[in-house]
Amino acid sequence: MGKWMKRTINPSDVPESEDHILVEDLARLAEGAVDATERQHLIGHLNRCRRCFQILQETLKDVSAETSMQPVSVPWWRTGMFYALAFSIALVLIIGGPLAIKHWTQRSPVILASLDLDQALKDILLEDDTLKWEKKERVNRLLTALQQRGLEVKDLDLVLLSKPYYQKKSLFGPKEVLHIRIDNGVAYLEVKEND
Ligand SMILES: [Zn+2]
Repeated sequence: MGKWMKRTINPSDVPESEDHILVEDLARLAEGAVDATERQHLIGHLNRCRRCFQILQETLKDVSAETSMQPVSVPWWRTGMFYALAFSIALVLIIGGPLAIKHWTQRSPVILASLDLDQALKDILLEDDTLKWEKKERVNRLLTALQQRGLEVKDLDLVLLSKPYYQKKSLFGPKEVLHIRIDNGVAYLEVKEND
């Protein structure tokens, strides 16, 4: 690791004598597993070193990417907004430290997933054309379906659909994929054609 670090150092405004932060230390910072003195030191470096800050951001992005089941076309929530959110999480972690991390971990983590739209999922979507599902029975049916497909969702309060879903006329059209983002008990759904 030490060697890799030295080879990839770019000239920056960090003095030559100062070592870059090890990835392990960035990870510990993200987890809040550093004491006040060490955090001060790491943040001091992050303030001056764009390279280490970028690695920290990548670390946080990786964490959210791990929960995504398969890479498909970029869904609507993975836009600037999403990365702005990831960035603000980074700031919360850096500024707030362990206290803020406790707050974030007490919330359920954001789940991103993409599933093939099979008949059982279609049936749930086709039940009616409201975009905001509040009927507990229907929300729970979706919850069960997601759990059966391997998503680690504990509970859902609300489901929001990006647009009404209609059954396709042709059986031979492009495959449909259900993109899901679950954040704090709310599931955001969007159906896209995968071509
Ligand atoms: Zn650095």
